[in-house]
Amino acid sequence: MKVGIVGAGMVGSAAGFAIAMRGAASEVVFVDRNMALARAQQEDIHHAVPFAEGCRLGAGDYDCLAGAGIVILAAGVAQKPGESRLSLLARNADVFAEVIGKVRAHAPEALLVVASNPVDIMTEVAQRASGLPPERVIGTGTLLDTARFRTLVAGHLGVSSHSVHGFVLGEHGDSEVLAWSSARVGAEPLDRIAVQLGVEITEEVRAKIDEGVRRAAYRIIEGKGATWYGIGAGLARLVLAIRDDQRAVLSLSIRTPHVAGVEDVAVSLPRVVGAAGVVSTLVPSLDPPEWEALHRSAALLKDSTKGLW
Ligand code: ADP
Repeated sequence: MKVGIVGAGMVGSAAGFAIAMRGAASEVVFVDRNMALARAQQEDIHHAVPFAEGCRLGAGDYDCLAGAGIVILAAGVAQKPGESRLSLLARNADVFAEVIGKVRAHAPEALLVVASNPVDIMTEVAQRASGLPPERVIGTGTLLDTARFRTLVAGHLGVSSHSVHGFVLGEHGDSEVLAWSSARVGAEPLDRIAVQLGVEITEEVRAKIDEGVRRAAYRIIEGKGATWYGIGAGLARLVLAIRDDQRAVLSLSIRTPHVAGVEDVAVSLPRVVGAAGVVSTLVPSLDPPEWEALHRSAALLKDSTKGLW
């Protein structure tokens, strides 16, 4: 499958690199308004291919997206000093409207994967601008936050993160919800496995893991200006699920009719994803405070799009 990436900055290039390393696509093409950057990323990643799986690399204008099965939207506009979040959102929405028109013209069959932040809102922007059905415009949402949650729980228990099953849901941001009550290790509830492993999961441990997940981006940005490896790897994972019609269950954001009492909002829930995009949305098992937190998170997102359309 050919994958197009619009926005060859840190996130876009990390995604391209991860896709090439995993052999998740037969071809990756970069498009960026900074053509020199797109070409440089393409050349750099091309030189890694002999060390990995076979993957063709390309860069150019929108016409090079022709035939792509997936187009990842990783183009971003930086916030100007003193600019409000809503004004930034409006500018990003304008950028997306232009970008998506061109993507749709050159790659009409492509499924859209949105990685630009604020990702939930940009997913709705992309869905509205493209006119595609919501299940074909997929935001990475809390895909990365879920990976962070699994990593920290696994580290605490001393087991593989692959054996930790649990989701972060809601907004990809401060109001996200760590679904502790439904988390499992293997097939066992967290508290039971902790007892068996002789490790405690106290309120203090939960608070530390919560902070570790929720504040991860802030910490990483403080140290290196942005985050890109985690999301790049997550994007490669998502591409594989789509390419191979895996029906993988991942926490992803799409425009959804009802979420915890909030109507028509793009927010992350566990979704079954395959070649057609999101093929089902699952209702998570949450306890009452988690449902309440999911409601607040969805309502906050809904509120922040007021005035955008
Ligand atoms: P991130 O860390 O989110 O990847 P970057 O600033 O590194 O952020 O990358 C964003 C990329 O998006 C930049 O390379 C920028 O040139 C690109 N970009 C911004 N606006 C557009 C646009 N309208 N069309 C194509 N690319 C764009």
